[in-house]
Amino acid sequence: TSVGKSSEDDYKDKLLGGLLAPGFDEDSCLSRYQANLYRKALPYKPSSYLLSRLRNYEDLHRRCGPYSESYKGALNELMVGDKNITVSREADCKYVVYIFNSKSGLGNRILAATSTFLYAILTNRVLLIDPRMDISDLFCEPFPESSWFLPENFPLMDKLDLFNQTYPNSFGKMMKNNMLNSSAESRPSYLDVYLDHDYGLYDKLFFCDENQPFVNKVPWLILKSSQYFVPGIFLMPCFEQELSRLFPQKTTVFHHLGRYLIHPTNQVWGLITRYYQAYLANADERIGIQIRVFDGSLSPSQYITEQVLSCAMTQKLLPQVNEQKFVVPPPSGKPKLKAVLVTSLISGYSEVLRNMYWQNPAVTGDLVGVFQPSHEELQQTEKQSHNRKAWAEIYLLSLTDGLITTAMSTFGYVAQGLGGLKPWILYRPDGKNLTDQGPPCVKLMSSEPCFHSPTYYDCKAKRGVDIGNVVPYVRHCEDLRVGIKIV
Ligand code: GDP
Repeated sequence: TSVGKSSEDDYKDKLLGGLLAPGFDEDSCLSRYQANLYRKALPYKPSSYLLSRLRNYEDLHRRCGPYSESYKGALNELMVGDKNITVSREADCKYVVYIFNSKSGLGNRILAATSTFLYAILTNRVLLIDPRMDISDLFCEPFPESSWFLPENFPLMDKLDLFNQTYPNSFGKMMKNNMLNSSAESRPSYLDVYLDHDYGLYDKLFFCDENQPFVNKVPWLILKSSQYFVPGIFLMPCFEQELSRLFPQKTTVFHHLGRYLIHPTNQVWGLITRYYQAYLANADERIGIQIRVFDGSLSPSQYITEQVLSCAMTQKLLPQVNEQKFVVPPPSGKPKLKAVLVTSLISGYSEVLRNMYWQNPAVTGDLVGVFQPSHEELQQTEKQSHNRKAWAEIYLLSLTDGLITTAMSTFGYVAQGLGGLKPWILYRPDGKNLTDQGPPCVKLMSSEPCFHSPTYYDCKAKRGVDIGNVVPYVRHCEDLRVGIKIV
């Protein structure tokens, strides 16, 4: 216990201000109760209402989770309903099963699963995760005394991959065929809700208040997405009051829910903590630079190198170097040590930075060490060791004091959200702005991730609307005009 701090304060910190439930076996998931030792204390406290809703959710999950009596009952109903017989009894427990898009990377999956969790809390559903996502060696189980994995013998398991907008039980298809009527006596036993980036007009009507009462009656939702669709939920009037109680500080949704839900397994925690202690812990300041290479190129581009340097130096994250001065007078005080953590699929960018600060003195007298944990060359989401490194690097970026990320990358969004950081985001070069003289980066308004493909449909007025202008706390994203985020 540090001076002036009681053991009660320590206990509170360990549970992230009450966000985490006590009572988990600590050794089986060390990161859960050790995260506070690596993160700076931030001013964002979870509301007491959020804490009580999380505890209620845990009770619900315990009661309705896999293999419980209620789960078995709900499965029976599903099997009956699957034979096209609809049922009218109110279900004991309701579920939302999160299905990932097999092409999406880790960042996308974390954001979509967290969005689905928020929807589950708001609608009193139990969140279950597609077990084929193979994340058990990446993330610990988040809910006490139960599992978040859908059991392998789930009756619709072999159909999960087929679910899309055209599937007969798809929400969009039913909307299109005028089959959704909340006053109807009967309802399907499950609905496929497709909210991925290429969803259609009818799928998007999921975000209309008037369709929620019908959806609410359906015991099983199978939700497929790779998007952070939370800002879309924030635009739904039916959830407005509840959301403002849950999140009085609106920009902390992912910060709280992500730190609640996503805990590295011991194997990944080893990658994170060994790296942190060896390369970052002793620095006076830690700077993260995430350079997302989207084009598969294996050598660094001159344009991006200049963009990163220009951003880092104009924003004073990294010092300028003096290329003329070869002999440096001993600094009067102890030089400041800056540790720069670079994450990238290729090694070229960090080599340029490392050499620059080795071969030239910084004008401030600071010492700059540049480190990069891995360079995997290609995205290999199907490979577990690759995913463990990716997850460790996302987490390490979230532990920095200043962060530069790449536009439109969910890898960076997860890091900024977990860390509660507002990074400078590098504008993504495209053919057009390669010659642009615009600023290299912009500071984000909030640490909330961007929802890349929201709907522009105003359900009430039944026409398109500029959704970045409907409420003051949802705005267009800095890195993608068509996207929206909570600010
Ligand atoms: P996004 O595509 O940038 O939105 O981020 P995603 O995380 O959804 O997908 C990118 C995937 O590529 C990651 O999950 C990793 O598998 C891999 N990847 C991209 N950048 C890096 C990096 O800097 N380090 C590592 N280890 N993997 C990366």
